[in-house]
Amino acid sequence: MLRPMSFEDDLDERLRELTARGLLRDPPALDGAARREGRAGERDVVVFCSNDYLGLAGHPMLVAALRGGAEAHGAGAGASRLISGTHVAHRAAEQDLAAWVELPAALLFSSGYAANVGALSTLVGPGDVAFSDRLNHASVIDGLRLSRATVHVYEHRDTAHLAALLEAHRPLGKRALIATDTLFSMDGDLADLSVLRGLADRHDAALYVDEAHALGVLGAGRGACHDAGVRPDVLVGTLGKAFGLSGAFVAGSARLRALLENRARSYVFSTAPPPAIAAAVRAAVALVAGGADARARALRHADRVRAQLRRDGWQVLDGRSSIVPVIVGDPAATMAASRALLERGYFVQGIRPPTVPPGTSRLRVVPTAAHTDAQVDGLLAAFAALRAARPLAGAR
Ligand SMILES: *Cc1c(COP(=O)(O)O)cnc(C)c1O
Repeated sequence: MLRPMSFEDDLDERLRELTARGLLRDPPALDGAARREGRAGERDVVVFCSNDYLGLAGHPMLVAALRGGAEAHGAGAGASRLISGTHVAHRAAEQDLAAWVELPAALLFSSGYAANVGALSTLVGPGDVAFSDRLNHASVIDGLRLSRATVHVYEHRDTAHLAALLEAHRPLGKRALIATDTLFSMDGDLADLSVLRGLADRHDAALYVDEAHALGVLGAGRGACHDAGVRPDVLVGTLGKAFGLSGAFVAGSARLRALLENRARSYVFSTAPPPAIAAAVRAAVALVAGGADARARALRHADRVRAQLRRDGWQVLDGRSSIVPVIVGDPAATMAASRALLERGYFVQGIRPPTVPPGTSRLRVVPTAAHTDAQVDGLLAAFAALRAARPLAGAR
C-alpha cells in the first residue's frame, strides 16, 4: 500500500488514528511547588498519580539542598562525564547511593531510561541470551532490544516458565542475564527475587533488577532486594520517584561501574547531570533514611484506598505498595473516569496502551506520604460520586 503522502499529512493521519483509538495523550500542565496539589488550568487539584511516594519532591530540605547545590556548583555540568563534566558532587553521590543499596559502587545516569538502555546494551550483546519478565518497564525492553542479545520473554512473575526457558536456551548464549523490575510500576506487584537469584546462580546468569518503584519505599527505603535479602549483580535505582529528584544510578561491583563508565553509550555520549542534583542526593538519602513515618503514612493511605474502592465495587489489583491500580479496561472509559475525577478536583491520570496491555486501561491511584487524611477522604468521595453517576464504569 504505497501512496505518496506529505510529511505533515502523515503526522496528521497518525494522530487521527491515535485519537480514534482513544489513545491520544494530552496531559494537564500543573502549576505549584509541591507535587501533591497544583493547578490544572483554572482548577485547584489534588494530585493522586505521581511517583513522589514520600512527598520529597516538594520537601523544603530537598529544595534547599538543590538550591544550595546550584549556588555552589552552578546550573549545569558543562560537558559529559568523561570530558570535563565530572564534579566531586557526582562522585560523592555515587558513593552515598552505593552505600545506601549496600553494593560496592554506583554510576549516575541522567534518567532511569538512560540507565537501562545504556547498561543492558553494554552488558549483553549478539550471541548472548537475556530473559525478561513480560511486564518489565519499557526502558528495560528497549535496552535489551538495543543490545541485540537473543531475548526470551517469560510470563509475568512466572518463575516456572523462566526456569523452562533457561533450561532450553541458556546453553545457547555466551553471557546470560535475567532482567526484572522488582516492584512492577503499573500493577504494584513484586518479583520473586529469591527464586530469581537461585535460578540465576543455577544457570550462570546475572541478575539485573530495576528498583525504580521500590527504592525509598520497601526494605526500609533500601529497596525490594534488601527486603528479600537478595544481592543482585546489577541494581538500577531512579532518583525521580521516591527520591524526589531526577536521574538514576546503576549499582554493583567496582568492575561493573568501570565497564559502564567506559562503554555505556547513554552515559558516555550525554551531558552529565547537573552537579546540583548530585549534591542534593545526600539530602535525599538522609530524608529517605529517616522516612519511616512517611513510608508508614503512605502505605496506610494506600491500604485505605484499596479497601474502600474494592468495597465500592471497583476492580482493584492486590498489593502492598503505594500503587493502587483500578482496572477500567476500555481506554475511552478510563479517560472519561479520569476527566470526571479531575472535574471534582482530583487528578488521577488514566494509563492506556502501550504503557499497559490492551484491555487493561486503568486509573493508577497513588496516595503519597504528603497527602492528608482529608485529601484521601475527598478522593474516595469523588470515586463514589463517579460510581453513582456512571454505575457501569469499572464494574467487576
Ligand atoms: C520510571 C521508570 C524508569 C525510568 O526512570 P526515569 O528516571 O523516569 O527515566 C525505569 N524503570 C522503571 C521500572 C520505571 O518505573
